[in-house]
Amino acid sequence: MGQWVYTFGDGKAEGDASQRDLLGGKGANLAEMASLGLPVPPGMTITTEVCTYFYEHGESYPPELETEVNAALDHIAASTGRTFGDAEMPLLVSVRSGARISMPGMMDTVLNLGLNDATVDALAKNAGDERFAVDSYRRFIQMYGDVVLGVPMRLFDERLEDLKAEKGVELDTEISADEWRKLIEVYKALVLEETGKPFPQDPRDQLWGAIGAVFGSWRNDRAITYRRLHQIPERWGTAVTVQAMVFGNMGETSATGVAFTRNPSTGEKALYGEFLINAQGEDVVAGIRTPQDITEKARQEAGSDRPSMETALPEAFAEFKAVCDKLEGHYRDVQDLEFTIERNKLWMLQTRSGKRTAKAALKIAVDMVDEGIISQDEAVKRIEPASLDQLLHPMIDPKSEKVLFAKALPASPGAAAGVIVFSSDEAERFAAAGKPCILCRVETSPEDISGMHAAGGIFTTRGGMTSHAAVVARGMGKPCVSGAGSVRIDYASGTMISNGVTLRAGDAITIDGATGEVLLGEVPMMKPELSGDFQRIMDWADRARRMKVRTNADTPHDARTAREFGAEGIGLCRTEHMFFDPARINAMREMILADDTEGRRAALDKLLPMQREDFTQLFEIMAGLPVTIRLLDPPLHEFIPHGEEDIKEVAEALGVDPEKLRNRARALAEFNPMLGHRGCRLAVSYPEIAEMQSRAIFEAAIAAAQKTGAPVEPEVMVPLVGLQTELEFVKKRIDATARAVSEETGQTFSYQVGTMVELPRAALNADKIAESAQFFSFGTNDLTQTAFGISRDDAATFLGSYLRESIIDVDPFVSIDVDGVGELIRIAAEKGRSVRPDIKLGICGEHGGDPASIDFCETVNLDYVSCSPFRVPIARLAAAQAALTHAKAA
Ligand code: ADP
Ligand code: MG
Ligand code: MG
Repeated sequence: MGQWVYTFGDGKAEGDASQRDLLGGKGANLAEMASLGLPVPPGMTITTEVCTYFYEHGESYPPELETEVNAALDHIAASTGRTFGDAEMPLLVSVRSGARISMPGMMDTVLNLGLNDATVDALAKNAGDERFAVDSYRRFIQMYGDVVLGVPMRLFDERLEDLKAEKGVELDTEISADEWRKLIEVYKALVLEETGKPFPQDPRDQLWGAIGAVFGSWRNDRAITYRRLHQIPERWGTAVTVQAMVFGNMGETSATGVAFTRNPSTGEKALYGEFLINAQGEDVVAGIRTPQDITEKARQEAGSDRPSMETALPEAFAEFKAVCDKLEGHYRDVQDLEFTIERNKLWMLQTRSGKRTAKAALKIAVDMVDEGIISQDEAVKRIEPASLDQLLHPMIDPKSEKVLFAKALPASPGAAAGVIVFSSDEAERFAAAGKPCILCRVETSPEDISGMHAAGGIFTTRGGMTSHAAVVARGMGKPCVSGAGSVRIDYASGTMISNGVTLRAGDAITIDGATGEVLLGEVPMMKPELSGDFQRIMDWADRARRMKVRTNADTPHDARTAREFGAEGIGLCRTEHMFFDPARINAMREMILADDTEGRRAALDKLLPMQREDFTQLFEIMAGLPVTIRLLDPPLHEFIPHGEEDIKEVAEALGVDPEKLRNRARALAEFNPMLGHRGCRLAVSYPEIAEMQSRAIFEAAIAAAQKTGAPVEPEVMVPLVGLQTELEFVKKRIDATARAVSEETGQTFSYQVGTMVELPRAALNADKIAESAQFFSFGTNDLTQTAFGISRDDAATFLGSYLRESIIDVDPFVSIDVDGVGELIRIAAEKGRSVRPDIKLGICGEHGGDPASIDFCETVNLDYVSCSPFRVPIARLAAAQAALTHAKAA
């Protein structure tokens, strides 16, 4: 039987920062801080194993728990000289939840637990401040009532608002002790009315109620939604930390605050944060009062007229600054801290690695390398590959016309345009319909998480840079503008008003999370500039990685973009996209309508120069880098019109009888085109198509090599091969064409013929196929479809329920299904190499840009991944991380 409760405080702790799994992130780091000798109020952490036990035993506790909790309370009592319920020196505690990773959606913290009608007087006497004591008590009833007893916070708020209205005051700080006492009676009556029971007076009942509520909250709807969105397993459970209270609301020399050791938005090496004098707990992030800056420099930059902590509480500030340095050095990473100052004495209440924007992450990692804190490899590992997306995406074009609606805090960078929605449900509806929207709220709460995901950007009128909206948006990489005090949102009428301008739900706006501007209409955007930090990290990543990164590109534009992002060749050029061009599609249709080979050849002759030109351009842009070109893949019916109107129009353009077109469309119709006449099956039926395309490729290779001086070695890829004999059939045509082109031009050139492995049969027979193929490219979109027997385009209707019910953890079309599709890749790679040790292996499905899938590719030793141009930097970084991870493991 293990230990269920771990204590910390007085420079010692049971457990440390490595025990997040057991103690939760908060508990583990409190233990670590205590051991470091930092000022941490003493406390205990009840482990996540108790949570697991709780759910496995019909919501009951291990029998030893009560004894262990009592022993830990004695430990806190010894350290503080206070005991639960004592009429002279009562112990007050906070009850805090904490999972392995910080998880909004869990139970809110309960502060001031242990207060009752008797201990409140002792607190008043000890502090020499009655107002403070009764304020703490009314906060406690409110929090406990809401969080543990389920009395809606709204009902407490209404009663508080009534009191303020009656007294004609605006701020809580203006309410006197006597008035708080009256409110306490009103609150107690409310609890009795709502729950049928009086507010619990025994501190031990209060404590067990709160502990039960934390464990209970692991399975509340908010927490379940959050876990689903972030793939957090149910079995992790939460820990509960019970900690002696310190008070930030003991007058003008007391305060509470939150800070980052570096700026989480820009990465600048400067202490950054907000605090409030005479306040408690989450007053800072709740947006009730506007917080003050911590440093003098930040105050000046913000142009604030309220004093910084540096000037208002200089001693506590100096100590805090030292603690920040110590913690950053200890954890070797930016820390996100929560602290309280009680009568000039600093207390640390939380530390964790700080969430940051991609831009800040790059700067911090590079700075820390320069400061000698971390190595280049560590810097590479610190950047979340997917977060680079934030930097690669559009920003507002500075040349564009801007009409300002409001200006507020630049809470999370990037720009987004869309229509106004006022609720998360609306945001989700719009997102489902593919319409970009901006979620506009007074403030956000954990219930808004799915809506925030769905929206393109978030705008709030309340709360600072550390408000819920700001923190969550930065984590998601969504643009966010927060704290627009000049804007009034009225949910009921669906409007928001600023300076006499009224906007309605459905109106378009643009938010700029870098400047805090909210602009009318949809403002034009432009490509971002990539910073020097970005380049340095990418250089280090390129040095660390083993796999090459290519791009999927069909057009010169895409190829150029990908080159700028560092692509090392083209892994997939889909030739059919070239035929959909309006100038060419009719030649394609002539080919399809031709009655015989002769007719088809005549039409193909028209397409040849166009294809040659396409390929020449791509080869030139790639200047000697490998380019894989896939022969025609989709079923031919995709190229011909189906609607009666279209048929008539096209028939006229081609000069044929519409009936002929109709008949052809009918003949080409298939029950299941995905498994129909496509891929290499087209080349088997119409070898002249493959011949024309190969000829265009080879002639282009010669032309481009002459122009750029760099030899071009094209890779001709035959799609949807299942049989070696299929591949051999097509390869013979390709080789013959190469010989012909060589003879005609008198030029020699080299090329490779390979196949896309996208059918299970090909993977299982990869050794045979490798006899004819010089390379394999895993087409994981089709391989996933054919391995699962799921059509991707029809999957939406049911994959959602699979995810919801935990039948699968991730969508296999987003991240490779390692056990199934991955196994096919592993088999194919092994078998292919057994026959042809130097066979080139790559992946060109959508998965080529997915970091988890890229990690898998490293484990099977692929030579390269290929992805869409905008994902190239992400893939470069992910490939580097995979190389670093698996090099260590090996
Ligand atoms: P969250 O996980 O939502 O950040 P916390 O458990 O950190 O919740 O509690 C929120 C805030 O409550 C803290 O930032 C701190 O200001 C206050 N708090 C928690 N425990 C104590 C305590 N023992 N004494 C004083 N304030 C506390
Ligand atoms: Mg909270
Ligand atoms: Mg906290």
